[in-house]
Amino acid sequence: MSIKSNIEYIQKLKGKAAEKSGRTADDVLLVAVTKLHTALEINEAIDAGITDIGENKVQEILDKYDSVKPVKWHLIGHLQTNKVKYIIDKVCMIHSVDSLKLAKEIDKRAKQHDLIMDILIQVNSAQDENKFGITTEETEALISDIAEECGNVRIRGLMCIAPYEEDVNDARPYFAAVKKIYDKYLDNRSEKVDFKYLSMGMTNDFQVAVEEGSNLVRVGTAIFGNRDYRREK
Ligand SMILES: *Cc1c(COP(=O)(O)O)cnc(C)c1O
Repeated sequence: MSIKSNIEYIQKLKGKAAEKSGRTADDVLLVAVTKLHTALEINEAIDAGITDIGENKVQEILDKYDSVKPVKWHLIGHLQTNKVKYIIDKVCMIHSVDSLKLAKEIDKRAKQHDLIMDILIQVNSAQDENKFGITTEETEALISDIAEECGNVRIRGLMCIAPYEEDVNDARPYFAAVKKIYDKYLDNRSEKVDFKYLSMGMTNDFQVAVEEGSNLVRVGTAIFGNRDYRREK
């Protein structure tokens, strides 16, 4: 299967899932996750209509940035504060903010570049110890703290990585818990807390995530095939 036909297939499934929750395919943004894939493969995806790509490591963004055609870059993986400065002017959104410390560093670097950085708060609704993110209980306090202290950061929504489940339906409650918080803010928007994105769903669970209300899916394997982890530095 080619990258192009994989993308067409994902778009179709995404549309079906969106319809199940009263929306259309266009209401759900497909972010192609390109980690461990080459600029050549990424450009093929862009030629096939991909507008947004996601990387989970700062170094990979820097390595590929100049070889990839114009596209919106998303930082979707855990971000160390000392690396914010390298990507602040390269990405359109950071999905993985889970502390005030990180938000403050993003704010500081955004100010230096005279830009407003869009961020998502990563919520670990399954309280999975192996994953980053804050608990559902901590989410509202972190959002108010960031809104109060970070003038150059705009909170655009929430992100969630569900634990791997043998039966993907078992992930529904974790998505639903984050959607519930998302809805509260959707009806109560301001300049600093301007919700638009609910980033949930990967290759394994994106259909279920969309049915539960996600409007941004991060799909890698189903587009590019398995990742070759020997490429990892
Ligand atoms: C790798 C990754 C994805 C994509 O995973 P696939 O299973 O390959 O679709 C999505 N989100 C994050 C945060 C990732 O690191």
